[in-house]
Amino acid sequence: MTQIAFIGLGNMGGPMAQNLIKAGHALAVYDLAPAALEAARAAGATVATSPANAVAAAEVVISMLPASKHVESLYLGTEGLVAQIAPGTLVIDCSTIAPVSSRKVAEAAQARGLAFIDAPVSGGTAGAAAGTLTFIVGGDTAALERARPYLSAMGKNIFHAGGSGAGQVAKIANNMLLAIHMAGTAEALALGVANGLDPKVLSEIMVKSSGRNWSLELYNPWPGVMDNVPASRGYSGGFGSALMLKDLGLATEASIASGSAVPLGELARNLYALHSQDAGAQDFSSIVNLYRKAE
Ligand code: NAD
Repeated sequence: MTQIAFIGLGNMGGPMAQNLIKAGHALAVYDLAPAALEAARAAGATVATSPANAVAAAEVVISMLPASKHVESLYLGTEGLVAQIAPGTLVIDCSTIAPVSSRKVAEAAQARGLAFIDAPVSGGTAGAAAGTLTFIVGGDTAALERARPYLSAMGKNIFHAGGSGAGQVAKIANNMLLAIHMAGTAEALALGVANGLDPKVLSEIMVKSSGRNWSLELYNPWPGVMDNVPASRGYSGGFGSALMLKDLGLATEASIASGSAVPLGELARNLYALHSQDAGAQDFSSIVNLYRKAE
């Protein structure tokens, strides 16, 4: 049993923390949302009164926060956790954030003798609940090996992308592709429906044809086509459109930093910027409503 501090108990962090408890670890948790803390308490966690309180006795610290600014403000500065966590502690940030922010936190952590890895995840809320997430790790091999037992309690695939920030770069590239194929899937389904097809029949055809992709097959955006996906529950839960917009912004930043052309990624970012104006909290598959409104 390891004493773990877990900070950020949202759609992803909540179920991830519960899987660590199920694996026999003792968790001290912190979140800004009282409801998230209550759910963790009910699952057996100890609720901390502040981030500093959560990490006081921690052997491992895990964070799962929305964006770069949340991670930087949690760890950096005079009040930040890097200054409070005991040297030698392993710190795992699972948030999807800018590689440059991740490297900044990693450098500050390493300067204080902490072992730090970025370990953003893929697999969505269903993967978080089932403990089948994919972790995409940036950092040194020794820190990854220390993290492996905890990551294995929350996921089933662990990739080592490279040094600090490399996990973030791989995650951002993946999510840019995800946004592109989700928007493309929504567009194809809307085209078929507008021309008289049943979206379920069209989905069955395309899943066995060359248009097959993850969004179509496992996360269908059209309501009524699949059970147990956000489209079947009014786009609640899942991965928010505003978070997808954030990831596409990270892809744009990375493309500028490297002089890369990402024309489809930019188009997807603009679609999500329009869509997030009134649907930022809805799952990202609700992008289909942009096309359905235009019918
Ligand atoms: P979420 O908005 O559901 O949860 C974030 C949680 O962090 C909230 O409970 C919020 O109260 C808490 N929080 C914010 N600031 C805090 C602070 N300073 N201290 C403590 N708690 C704080 O987000 P999520 O869907 O769980 O996503 C978390 C991260 O995982 C994001 O970076 C996202 O891009 C990434 N991600 C999400 C999914 C998904 O399907 N939802 C999939 C892969 C990766």
